Amino acid sequence: MRFEYAPAPESRSVVTLRDSYGLFIGGEFVAGSSVFKTISPATEEVLAEVTHAGPEDVDRAVAAARQAYERVWSVMPGRERGKYLFRIARLLQERARELAVLETMDNGKPIRESRDVDIPLAAAHFFYHAGWADKLGYAGFGPSPRPLGVVGQVIPWNFPLLMLAWKIAPALACGNTVVLKPAETTPLTALVFAEICQQADLPPGVVNIVTGDGSTGQLLVAHPGIDKVAFTGSTAVGKEIARACAVSGKRLTLELGGKAANVVFDDSPVDQAVEGIVNGIFFNQGHVCCAGSRLLVQESIADELLSALKRRMMTLRLGDPMDKNTDIGAINSRVQLDKIQELTASGEAEGAERWSAPCALPDRGFWFPPTVFTGVSAAHRIAQEEIFGPVLSVLTFRTPAEAIEKANNTPYGLSAGVWTEKGSLILWMASRLRAGVVWANTFNRFDPAAPFGGYKESGFGREGGRHGLEAYLDVLGGSDV
Ligand code: NDP
Repeated sequence: MRFEYAPAPESRSVVTLRDSYGLFIGGEFVAGSSVFKTISPATEEVLAEVTHAGPEDVDRAVAAARQAYERVWSVMPGRERGKYLFRIARLLQERARELAVLETMDNGKPIRESRDVDIPLAAAHFFYHAGWADKLGYAGFGPSPRPLGVVGQVIPWNFPLLMLAWKIAPALACGNTVVLKPAETTPLTALVFAEICQQADLPPGVVNIVTGDGSTGQLLVAHPGIDKVAFTGSTAVGKEIARACAVSGKRLTLELGGKAANVVFDDSPVDQAVEGIVNGIFFNQGHVCCAGSRLLVQESIADELLSALKRRMMTLRLGDPMDKNTDIGAINSRVQLDKIQELTASGEAEGAERWSAPCALPDRGFWFPPTVFTGVSAAHRIAQEEIFGPVLSVLTFRTPAEAIEKANNTPYGLSAGVWTEKGSLILWMASRLRAGVVWANTFNRFDPAAPFGGYKESGFGREGGRHGLEAYLDVLGGSDV
């Protein structure tokens, strides 16, 4: 049954947008070499002008981070660093509504998700790592692990503030200073985060934010003043960065793409599995590196499950991301929409059958309806390549061994899901799936205490948990932090 809901738009009044934003270097907003505009993907309206950091700006930011590292942050006792992180976490909570609205305006994701997932998890990452700052000697890396120095961090547009938190919180807890570049299409919450650093009285230069496009990212990761690079984004750019870092001796962690299998056995409760499939691929418009973009369903229940899935998809509401009833928001950019359209066209051309939930798409902005492809074979591009949109490719299997073979038939290895009521089968599957995270009877669950990261072309290194600290520590070092 489809319920009609009256619109329930969240107010934008909590956000005060500036006309233009500078770069955040040495604790202050400063002008840079040129500017670009950031737009709302749901309406195409210009939200603000943002500074494009060029070579001198990146130099300045790295110098500020170096100075803060040497004079203040690396010599500050961990318990003092922890206080700043707790303060930032509390400020994120205090400004949560403003950040959620701004994230939805700049990114296009439903307000329900930015309000209930992105911002609370970003605060949780700071709380969690604040707790580690004075306990690094007990983390299993020797009695006095040392920080690495200045860290260059480049993040994508799918979870702008959350990815910032995943990067900055552990780096700071471990005693490093950072220069972070947010994605070109979603810089605004990172700039409000810069204000939060000021509000928290964070020593100048500990966090520096340089906005810009891929060329700014390139300058940052290639900068000789950087000791470690942390990147989340596409596998293509990740490979480029790996090549650049290989010759420089910089430490590197990469969190790249995925093509996760969500494996549903015939004994799983169908309604619950349908919710997990919907959450796995339609959460955040499918702009999720660990999205369950390949559904592997046991042949005996395929028809029943697909009928239930289509029924559920017809109830998904696509539209204004500021409306609290909205399930599917806007695609983040024209470029991303073009990519989704190109890949889905290839799915049809290669012989798969396409079904999209009937829904009206708004006239302005970038939109794509929730879509399922059946009759997909492992060789199809839509079974191999990351679409990064609300598009599910369905394959079937008969035995657990076949499910493993198909699930692992991908260059990626970030995440996977298993749906069955048999605990023994969950363990059997989990030990054979080549994926950094395996969810059982759930999907897309995140916790700062749980390490996250991939195998193969999904990258290397872990973020979150005790394992994530290792990426920001010189574990062979000696003196106190
Ligand atoms: P990119 O990998 O290009 O972007 C990620 C970040 O890296 C952005 O901040 C980007 O800047 C920056 N960047 C781009 N080129 C370079 C470079 N040569 N050196 C250093 N930094 C660079 O992802 P896209 O946004 O272009 O998305 C393309 C595809 O990547 C998507 O369709 C999706 O399949 C995948 N993707 C995967 C993500 C994941 O989490 N696994 C996240 C985002 C995308 P700018 O934004 O200015 O281009």
